[in-house]
Amino acid sequence: MKFNTSVLHTLKPEKENYGATQTPVYQVSAFAYDTAEQLEKVFNNKAVGFSYSRVGNPTVDAFEKRVAAIEGGIGAVACSSGMAAITAVFLSILQSGDEIIVSSGLFGGTIELLHDLDVLGITVRFVDNITADSVRENITDCTKAVFTELIGNPKLNVVDLESVSQVCHENGIPLIVDSTTATPFLVRPVKHGADIVIHSSSKYINGGGNSVSGIIVDGGTFNWNNEKYSVMGKYLKFGKFALLFRLRNDIWRNTGGCLSPFNAFMNIVGLDTLGLRMERICDNALKLAEFLSTVDGIEVNYPALSSSPCYDIAKKYFGGRGGGIITVRAGSREKAFRLINSLEYALIATNIGDVKTLVIHPASTIYTHSTEEQKINAGVYDDTIRISVGIEDIDDIIADFGKAAENL
Ligand SMILES: *Cc1c(COP(=O)(O)O)cnc(C)c1O
Repeated sequence: MKFNTSVLHTLKPEKENYGATQTPVYQVSAFAYDTAEQLEKVFNNKAVGFSYSRVGNPTVDAFEKRVAAIEGGIGAVACSSGMAAITAVFLSILQSGDEIIVSSGLFGGTIELLHDLDVLGITVRFVDNITADSVRENITDCTKAVFTELIGNPKLNVVDLESVSQVCHENGIPLIVDSTTATPFLVRPVKHGADIVIHSSSKYINGGGNSVSGIIVDGGTFNWNNEKYSVMGKYLKFGKFALLFRLRNDIWRNTGGCLSPFNAFMNIVGLDTLGLRMERICDNALKLAEFLSTVDGIEVNYPALSSSPCYDIAKKYFGGRGGGIITVRAGSREKAFRLINSLEYALIATNIGDVKTLVIHPASTIYTHSTEEQKINAGVYDDTIRISVGIEDIDDIIADFGKAAENL
């Protein structure tokens, strides 16, 4: 099966749903049983069933199973937001005294979270670009994980999964990838060596800009049975499922960052058209990036343009596609604001992966709490504009940017 068919047909609909062609929304908090004994069994993992929607819900479960299948993982855990997903993974693996190697070209919220980890006694080593060499140079006996975005948002640097995962595995540490901007349409990171894949499903998976959510996919490829990961404790007996059990029984369940059934449903509806949207978005983004490259005074960064420093890696993993985000530098903050304000169609909003084209000035918004150095390492300059390209007729969007650029 190719991508769109597999997204729609890998999992068969549940039998008991009256033949419903879409997963119903189980908008309930709790599930009742005939006897106390039955509920006891469900609570003790001796019977399959749902008890309370913070811990599990059939609609959320269906969303998790679909994303796990699409990504080629052994299971998934859905969360209330992308940040909740990243937090749950970090807190499940790391403890005081540990180190983590991360890319400095990360989403602003994630950089702020990493500073919160610092306070908990976890050393965060930021490196400009996650490569086999930079990982090797920064690994110590205390390193417990490498974390990176596959396509940095908004730096748009692309990670060479195969060589990086090889160094991680030689050193017995997992590679955790935030694949929000790439989506499984461009690449399935587990196939190329990533152990854990995280999405802010608020973005391309949902696709309509209508629900905030996140999801963790476990590739089942990492062997936690090593004294380094004593934090996995009693879950080691579950072998490759250890992390999923730890999330479900400890951190994820106890921090309460569960996904609402209704938002899970919106994501399921979104998933159905992920391939169609991504194909259109990537085609549109390439055309817009090519056009913007011809405009005087604008510098364009897009992974599928040969001018991108990541062009070759992007080509290797994404087959010539570049995703839906373009960044441009307009020459000054004033010019960037003028360009943004002159656009007729693009919405000025802090989101990506919507069907509508969105623009933002990251330095004054998402990175407003970052230092100058952090901003530059994240590819955020005073004149940077991030464009999240939508599914509009691209001629209209190109004309809109062309007209706005006349004001530069
Ligand atoms: C948006 C985003 C996040 C955070 O996700 P939320 O759903 O907003 O919490 C994390 N990583 C990346 C790459 C993002 O774009």
